[in-house]
Amino acid sequence: MARYRDAVCRLCRREGMKLYLKGDRCYTDKCAITKRNVPPGQHGASRKKLSNYGIQLREKQKAKRFYGVLETQFRNYFELADKQAGRTGDNLLRILETRLDNVIYRLGFAASRPEARQLVVHGHFTINGKKVDVPSFLVKVGDDIAVKEKSAKSDKFKALAENFNGTVPNWLSVNVEKLEAKVVALPAREDIDLPIAENLIVELYSR
Ligand code: SF4
Repeated sequence: MARYRDAVCRLCRREGMKLYLKGDRCYTDKCAITKRNVPPGQHGASRKKLSNYGIQLREKQKAKRFYGVLETQFRNYFELADKQAGRTGDNLLRILETRLDNVIYRLGFAASRPEARQLVVHGHFTINGKKVDVPSFLVKVGDDIAVKEKSAKSDKFKALAENFNGTVPNWLSVNVEKLEAKVVALPAREDIDLPIAENLIVELYSR
């Protein structure tokens, strides 16, 4: 399973914004964007004016990096979104948002999407009672998500159940004491709080 392995703060600097890839550190003064918000590389500080194509490309890269998805898979998601009824951009974001690793992050079971991905790969979750360790698994309405019984006894998840103070999006419900959740709806565009202009991604792929 391919994934990006370089320093993740470079990705934020490239996009010029926080992508929240490092959990708690992202909210401190140690964040690279807080300290020095310039693109990485020798000539990073001299930003050039972007062409229309460049603007569209950056928007796609930003979306990929928020969700931790590489090019081929992202393209596949776009093609799937394009075949579905409704607006392609909305469909694309809905597909990305329903990835299991994103759902685990949205539920507050992980501090960042990369951490959520790692927890999924390590097999800590079940969907409808069956272990699922594939971060790209797409959840559906009615799916029951739970921390595996054995994992729930670990210090990490016990602390999570005791100290949980997050809020979950409307399309998910959570029972924190039981470390269980349910997908009650599919996310609408207004449920997705990421600064992504999905129309630019559609324009890019429609060239
Ligand atoms: Fe991005 Fe977080 Fe690194 Fe800041 S600390 S640059 S938000 S990954």
